[in-house]
Amino acid sequence: MNPLPVPADSITVEEALRRVLAATPVLPPIRVPLVAAVGLVLAEPLIAAEDLPPFPAATMDGYAVVAADGPGWRELIGEQTAGYVANLVVRPGTVARITTGAPLPPGADAVVMVERTQEREGRVEIAQETIRGGDNIRPIGVDMARGQRVLGAGTTLGPAEIGLLASLGVAEPLVHPRPRVAVLSTGDELVEPWQTPGPGQIRDANRYALGGALAELHLPLVRSSIAPDEANATRDTLLDALANADVLITSGGVSMGQLDLVKVLLDELATVHFGRLFMKPGKPLHFATTADGALIFGLPGNPVSALVGFEIFVRPALRKLAGHPDPVRPRVAVTLTHAILPGDRPEFQRATVRQGDDGRLLATSTGAQASSRLASLVGANALLALPARREPFATGETVEAILTGPLVG
Ligand code: AMP
Ligand code: MG
Repeated sequence: MNPLPVPADSITVEEALRRVLAATPVLPPIRVPLVAAVGLVLAEPLIAAEDLPPFPAATMDGYAVVAADGPGWRELIGEQTAGYVANLVVRPGTVARITTGAPLPPGADAVVMVERTQEREGRVEIAQETIRGGDNIRPIGVDMARGQRVLGAGTTLGPAEIGLLASLGVAEPLVHPRPRVAVLSTGDELVEPWQTPGPGQIRDANRYALGGALAELHLPLVRSSIAPDEANATRDTLLDALANADVLITSGGVSMGQLDLVKVLLDELATVHFGRLFMKPGKPLHFATTADGALIFGLPGNPVSALVGFEIFVRPALRKLAGHPDPVRPRVAVTLTHAILPGDRPEFQRATVRQGDDGRLLATSTGAQASSRLASLVGANALLALPARREPFATGETVEAILTGPLVG
């Protein structure tokens, strides 16, 4: 099965993604307060400067004992609770009351839990047959040893990592910031969702769909607006949006029509790295960078093309900016549950993927794949990466897919 050749005026998806990532910097790191760092990527390794715990600590409420004493009645010499060091030494034949997290007093080498004891008139009966040294004690450095590399640079910080940073005294970790993103829809036909379209008008779907995609990545939308099909107004809006953004995502205005101004303005205001892809949907997708280093993605106007273009090119760039070492989603092999007609461009078909009884991933198309039909993305958890060829894809054939969401049940 021979793949169809790439037309001279287009580049492949692989080459386009390579150019996007090559032109995308990693944002320089900043310090942020601990909880604000959740979801961000650590920019330096976390090396433990201290042992944790820093002292041998009781893991049970009970009595600090000399293990070799064994069971029997002992003299109670005092109490060690958490948070300070009592002036106690546990000698053979004596015990000290101790609480969870308290430092083990010198002389003691085990803790017997309170359930295995009884205390009466200044004496304690240890009712446990065998006591081993180290029982119910967390030794120094058992959770983390000084000098240990606890987290690598490039780690995405979740609750556990934030807790580790806190434990080791890092109150403001060095992290890559979130890229600031502006979204711009273009077209004289567009009105807001709460407006009633007039003759020839439609509601703007893309700013909201893309805003949702950004919200899923926890990225701040620094600006969101509609520009009309008029050069000066669109130029002003583009420049204004670029003033505060690391990434500008536009939709519409990149095809071959006379009013496809984004295409013209990108040539004027930025360096265009590509403008035509051997890909479906989304052939006219543009990528440019400004002299200040901002990225501009000129996505096509059709809503599916815009969202698929976001998934294939914008998402990896946003993840690279944010410091993720693996910005591109892996591809997996899936088995088609039905035949699919071939196309003359590589196509990202929207599909639902579930795990079959034999463990294989089974892919089913979401139906009509028109690039205006947002419903083709509804319920989809995968994009099938179908090569351009003449032969139909057969039921049971294995193709590559990008999983964009969890497997369906
Ligand atoms: P364009 O790329 O500007 O030629 O637009 C291609 C198609 O997508 C046209 O049918 C537009 O009306 C439609 N379109 C463009 N922008 C949007 C948008 N923000 N929301 C919904 N449809 C759009
Ligand atoms: Mg348009």
